[in-house]
Amino acid sequence: MSIPAQSSGAPDTEPDGPEDRLRRFATIWSRAIFPSTATSMTRTEFEQHLLPLARGLSDILHARPFDAAPASEVGVALVAAHCTDPDTLSSTLGVIDSYLVLYCGSNGATALSTEDSRARCARIQHALAGGFTQALRERTLAEQEAIARSALTARSDAEQALHATEARFRAVFKDAAIGIGIADLDGNVLEVNDTLTRMFGGLEHHVRSHKINEWVHPEDSPQVWKYYNELVRGEREHYRVEKPYYRNDGTVLWTNLTVSLLRDSEGRPEYQLALLEDTTERRLLNLRLRYEATHDALTGLPNRTLFFERLEKALSADDGSRFGLCYLDLDGFKAINDSLGHASGDRLLVEVADRLQSCATAPGEMVARLGGDEFVALTTGPDTRTEVDELACRILGVLGTPVRLEGRELTVRGSIGIVEGPAGERSAAEVLRSADITMYRAKSAGGNRFELADAEADARAITRHGLTTALPAALERGEFFIEYQPLVHLGDGTVHGAEALVRWCHPQHGVLGPDRFIPLAEHTGLIVPLGRWVLEESVRQAHFWQERHSDGGPLRINVNLSPTQLHHPLLVAETVDVLERSGLEPGALCLEVTESALIGADDDLLKPLRQLAEMGVDIALDDFGTGYSNLANLRRLPVSVLKLDRSFTQGMQQHPADPVDLKIVEGIVSLAHSLDLAVTVEGVETGAQAEQLRELGCDTAQGWYYARPGAPDRIHSLLLADAV
Ligand code: C2E
Ligand code: MG
Ligand code: MG
Repeated sequence: MSIPAQSSGAPDTEPDGPEDRLRRFATIWSRAIFPSTATSMTRTEFEQHLLPLARGLSDILHARPFDAAPASEVGVALVAAHCTDPDTLSSTLGVIDSYLVLYCGSNGATALSTEDSRARCARIQHALAGGFTQALRERTLAEQEAIARSALTARSDAEQALHATEARFRAVFKDAAIGIGIADLDGNVLEVNDTLTRMFGGLEHHVRSHKINEWVHPEDSPQVWKYYNELVRGEREHYRVEKPYYRNDGTVLWTNLTVSLLRDSEGRPEYQLALLEDTTERRLLNLRLRYEATHDALTGLPNRTLFFERLEKALSADDGSRFGLCYLDLDGFKAINDSLGHASGDRLLVEVADRLQSCATAPGEMVARLGGDEFVALTTGPDTRTEVDELACRILGVLGTPVRLEGRELTVRGSIGIVEGPAGERSAAEVLRSADITMYRAKSAGGNRFELADAEADARAITRHGLTTALPAALERGEFFIEYQPLVHLGDGTVHGAEALVRWCHPQHGVLGPDRFIPLAEHTGLIVPLGRWVLEESVRQAHFWQERHSDGGPLRINVNLSPTQLHHPLLVAETVDVLERSGLEPGALCLEVTESALIGADDDLLKPLRQLAEMGVDIALDDFGTGYSNLANLRRLPVSVLKLDRSFTQGMQQHPADPVDLKIVEGIVSLAHSLDLAVTVEGVETGAQAEQLRELGCDTAQGWYYARPGAPDRIHSLLLADAV
């Protein structure tokens, strides 16, 4: 029978709000553990009792920064509420595993990623189990002490009411939930209770046939036998240790062992009394939880937590040892994931993990998965300088063999950043950041390679990082401005428009060119608001020029669009909006798109450009000739202008100009004209170049020969000069 989830209590909570979900979690939890508790509460009272604990777990799940430690208090609270049965713990962990994220994963303010919440959940379980175990142990010890006391009383009160205390002791001995045994000081076992016999596998003679000092186990802590000898010599009254034993079937029993010395009425040592609590299951559970909290569920590799532990240990060594770290990121993994699906992506990661594992098998080496397609390999020891290079080579080597996935052969490549150095100089976080930066350097150098960290490159990357984080505020603070560079008719030298080129007036670094920050803005997505601002500002400027200069024919404004802007769903709507608000006609706007952004573009990507072109906006193919696009492809694109890249003009610098270059430009111009495309050339720096390009049939030009990019009023004066 299933009991419907109750939402008793505050009637004003919205149905299915966070509070409601929390209550439901508490209901499920109480249903799972109530049967195994020894509480005197009713079920409803018990559920009410669990509610604040559930709230505590939810809060821990969402805490920033995350800290699982307070979950141990929940474990303590369970023991305090008489939930001491081992089943209670495993059911509680099961409920957390299945329901905590489901019901408390998003608390209105924050929603966690699946991976993040899974990792948090595992650590919460770990902390809770720790608190539970500790509290239970303390409680058991208290119980053990009571038993030991009554045993002592039983022995020493022999003269008074001997029989009564004996009987009382017998009763405790027989019914105790923990194992009790009595031995003489030579280690001969005299008596054991049923619980102890059961713990050792059920055969009393197995337990009794051994002397105490024969119960040796390889995992015994060094103190165990020292304490034992002290006790039987009468130098110690009791001791407490965690100790493993072999059961009669050879399996291992883990116990919390308390041994007390019993003296006779004259105070001479006589017997030893051992109390054993079976902790085997709890220990296994703890090991499992520790394993889950420190390993990646998909690949079984150590995870970020364990890796950091090891790295910190390696870095804190003070014996002159060194460390070497390879930070690996797969090249193009996202594309594989997107095209073949996540299940295939996962299989690929598992395969990669297996291969990586085979690269780092020597002592002191480890491989871990940090998340996504990022892995690390660590090597430690005296000679990591050569070892780490070899490790990186091995990694690239094992990745080299294609992976078979769904009947295809996939080639997996990776970029590796290497950091190597002596222990004791840097923190784990610093080392990892340097490795990350270096990995990106390997990636931008084309991938499938490794690079070594160096301080200068790190510093550059950190500046880049600084610029990236400063970008959003810079836009708000108005630190960007636009320079305009005239576009000139090659035929008559008149100014026919201008290209808007954005700059950043950085408070510390001065004026930065677009090459320094456009790629960063592109990477972070800030290019969308920044690009919108450039468009608005330059269209407004163009309209202003036109009003001031009504007799000079149409004046055009060219604005650059980056690939991310092309993909933005509001591109068309926003452009139309900007044009309408400024009053500029669409035919006066030309959007420049780089050739490389359109290589391989499908109809979906071209659609917005096509719509804009249909409205009369010109589309120019910028930096043409650098992207190796298929010339035949030009016909498919909604472009009306080709902007020949500066590299062509550079080829004409020599005297005489390279005849092959001239032929190429001539060919492109005639092809463009046959497709009804106008040709603009960039980077014209001399009069000779301008003349040559005019002869080759180019339509417009742009370059330092005419004017460098400058403030808007400079264009205005150029226009006026033309008009005169
Ligand atoms: P681009 O669109 O190809 O712009 C032409 C670049 O060539 C400009 O560099 C310009 O200053 C430079 N240039 C012009 N004439 C000459 C010349 O005679 N000789 C030489 N050596 N260089 C010349 P800039 O301003 O550094 O812009 C670089 C690139 O940044 C632009 O290349 C464009 O792709 C991008 N960019 C500029 N502004 C924006 C913008 O608002 N949005 C986007 N998405 N990209 C922009
Ligand atoms: Mg451009
Ligand atoms: Mg260009």
